Amino acid sequence: MSEHHRIVVVGGGTGGITVAARLCRALDEPDVAIIEPSATHYYQPLWTLVGGGAVSREASARPEADLIPDGATWIQAEVSELLPDEDAVQLADGRTIGYDHLVLAPGLTLRWDAVEGLEGHLGRDGICSNYAYDQCERTWETISAFEGGTALFTMPAPPIKCAGAPQKIMYLADDAFRKAGVRDRSEVIYASATPGIFAVPEYAATLNRVIERRGIETRYQHALTAIRPDEREAVFTDGDGDEVVIGYEMIHVTPPQVPPEFVARSPLAGAG
Ligand SMILES: Cc1cc2nc3c(=O)[nH]c(=O)nc-3n(C[C@H](O)[C@H](O)[C@H](O)COP(=O)(O)OP(=O)(O)OC[C@H]3O[C@@H](n4cnc5c(N)ncnc54)[C@H](O)[C@@H]3O)c2cc1C
Repeated sequence: MSEHHRIVVVGGGTGGITVAARLCRALDEPDVAIIEPSATHYYQPLWTLVGGGAVSREASARPEADLIPDGATWIQAEVSELLPDEDAVQLADGRTIGYDHLVLAPGLTLRWDAVEGLEGHLGRDGICSNYAYDQCERTWETISAFEGGTALFTMPAPPIKCAGAPQKIMYLADDAFRKAGVRDRSEVIYASATPGIFAVPEYAATLNRVIERRGIETRYQHALTAIRPDEREAVFTDGDGDEVVIGYEMIHVTPPQVPPEFVARSPLAGAG
């Protein structure tokens, strides 16, 4: 064993940093280690406002070192394997870190590749997404360049980080289209793999009123499977398993998301 800590937190994103900070404050002898490879922390909720043209993407990035809670140890490395039988994690650099307690906060992996035809076209050809630091500014460029026609906003099946983000950028775009005077010659469509606007009934009731007030069209149980950039067409599989094609002038894609591979293949993961 290369090192041992009372508590090991895997992932120094918003979740990992928050848990580590609370543990460091609450415990007398915390001995908390955070394993995080990235030197930069990204506050992802801000990417909605970057895509909406309100702030620059740089505002969402801060040095990870500034956010490590007082008293915690930062191990700047990537976990490659979970070894629960040994109460340890394996790092990609070969070290093994032991723990008494393990907190997993490595976030979700974005599966851009699960949407056929997307690769190489994201950030141009009317295709954008707020779901990456290097893409969110392109969203505002795409919204600003929209001159009317169909604006399509997609939402995958869960799991997803922020079930509201695919909608929030749509509402900001709707406002921008109205200010630019193009909304009256536009069709805004929300195409979601889910059966409704939101899983929580109380929120769904309000959001359905927002959708109606803004004149937004909805297509539920529509999972985006492919994009044909040359034809400006998005291909969906609907609830009956049938293919549905919707043409667009711009499309905001929220990619399918899955657990990180080292978690999915670990003994801690359940079947499926
Ligand atoms: C566009 C957008 C808008 C959003 N808006 C909101 C909002 O308004 N409100 C809200 O509550 N949430 C929002 N979210 C969701 C929010 O950002 C996430 O829920 C939150 O970041 C999750 O925190 P996390 O720590 O679990 O994961 P992340 O913040 O993704 O952090 C995971 C960390 O784990 C690290 N990691 C990954 N693999 C490994 C490994 N093998 N070893 C070690 N470390 C690893 C990564 O480098 C990363 O730093 C939004 C997200 C997006 C993308």
